[in-house]
Parts: sequence; C-alpha cells; structure tokens
Amino acid sequence: MASKYAFRVENYEHFYQYPQEYYMAPFRIFANLYFVGNRDVGAYLLDTPEGLILIDTTYPTTRALLLQSIWEAGFNPRKIRYILHTHGHFDHFGATDLLVSLSGAKTFLGAEDARMFRERPELALIDDARYTHLELFRPDVELQDGDIVQLGDTKIRCVSAPGHTMGVFAYFIELREGAETHLAGLYGGIGVNTLCRESIQRYHTEYLRDYHIPSLEKVRGEPVDIVLGNHTQQAQMLQKYQRMTADPSAPNPFIDPTEWQRFIDHAEALYRQMLEDEATGADQI
Ligand SMILES: [Zn+2]
Repeated sequence: MASKYAFRVENYEHFYQYPQEYYMAPFRIFANLYFVGNRDVGAYLLDTPEGLILIDTTYPTTRALLLQSIWEAGFNPRKIRYILHTHGHFDHFGATDLLVSLSGAKTFLGAEDARMFRERPELALIDDARYTHLELFRPDVELQDGDIVQLGDTKIRCVSAPGHTMGVFAYFIELREGAETHLAGLYGGIGVNTLCRESIQRYHTEYLRDYHIPSLEKVRGEPVDIVLGNHTQQAQMLQKYQRMTADPSAPNPFIDPTEWQRFIDHAEALYRQMLEDEATGADQI
C-alpha cells in the first residue's frame, strides 16, 4: 500500500544533496520578528533586549543556511538564548545541537514529543534525514499547554495542538512596533503525512487521528493577523516576501486578519479529503 499523502524520502534526494538551492534571504516580517528559514521550512528569530529567541532549526542538511541567514539578518547565532521547537521531527531540530554548542541556548519542546524521543525515538523520523548525522536532543524545558515563554519584552503563548505528532505546539506572539500591535500565530504541524493510513499502520500511531481536528478547533478563534508557516508553502511565505520586496511602500502582505480562519479551514479540508480518498481508494499511488 502506498499513499500519496505519505512522506517519500526519495522525493527529497535533490534537496538533501543540493541544500544551497533552497537558500533564501532572511527578512523582517514585522517589529522584532524575522524569517530565517529556507525555501522549504520555516525558522523564526525574535530579537529582544535580553537576547534572541529562535523557533525551529530546520533540516540537518540546511544548518549552514540557517547560520548564514541569522548572520545576514544582522544577528550573532551565539546570542540565541532560547530555542523553541514546533514539534519533534528532524526537519525542525536539525541545527539544534550545533546552536546549543555555540550559544548555550536553553531548548524547549512539547512534553509529549520529549517523551516520544525517550520512548519512540523512531517517530522523530531521523531515518528520513540523509547525508548527515543527527541525534535527538534532550530539551531543557518540556512545554505544557498554556505555558508562557518570555524573554525581554517578548512573550510567546504556547498552546498544545497534538495531531501531526502528540507534542505539536502552536505559538502565539504579541508583536509591537510603535503604536501598532499584531498577533503572530504559528501552528506547529498541520501535515497529514503522519496521519495517513500508511503512516499510522507502519508506526502504530492510530491514536493521532483522535487529536488533529480538535486541536485545529481549539485555536480557530485566536485573533491572529500574521500567519506563519512552519513549512513555507503553508502560509505562502515566499509569495508574501516577493510582494513585500516588489513594493516596500505597499501595506505589509504578512498582516491579514482574515487569513488564520482560511488557514485552519484549509488544514481541516485537507485532512477530511485524505479520509475521503482513503475510503474510496483514491489515496493510492
Ligand atoms: Zn513534522
């Protein structure tokens, strides 16, 4: 059985071998929030008077790109104080060990994914990372639902959103620039690749399906007006960046109070479509 919804490592061969093709320039989204990820996966930097917060560290094969982007955005990676993770898959903690050794940063991961590292390490999908060596890390802080992480004047509200993994977290960040304030929202894992029948049968993780839709519903009402993608295509990060650079005097394309609803709707629709395709056999390739 082969599902079109499953992750296929062979589709990533080119990316693993030529990660430099996925470089993109870092940029400021709004206030003290910067994009420092690559063309495939997001990473976000928050500049505070007490040091830097980094959310996610991309693939192990793109460590050099992440370091380059942090420097190019104007920051020293050694000034990172906190590293938060959206969930415990290899494409979100690939440079964590390196950055911790450089900076001594404190690491944060959802408590359920910290448990997954201990009890079901294969679910971190490290075997899907090629051409590189990667080890699991032991987080300093195991996040619980409702935790607030604060550094300087920046607060991140952490909401447990299990489904893609049991330890997915959504992060909500209040941003302020002058008199203007916005709420950035980062849903830490909407991919259905771990929820499709092929994956849940292979890994015996049928229980994940009980959580995905309730988690989406839980955060649906958040007054987010800046949607961040933990993979770039989820929130059209590249297209918005292009619009921003094409006309810097136009309204900031990242600010849109209607997008969060569409984002949640789309994630739900994708999951329901997968279930429907599985029922009819249309998921098979
Ligand atoms: Zn993932």
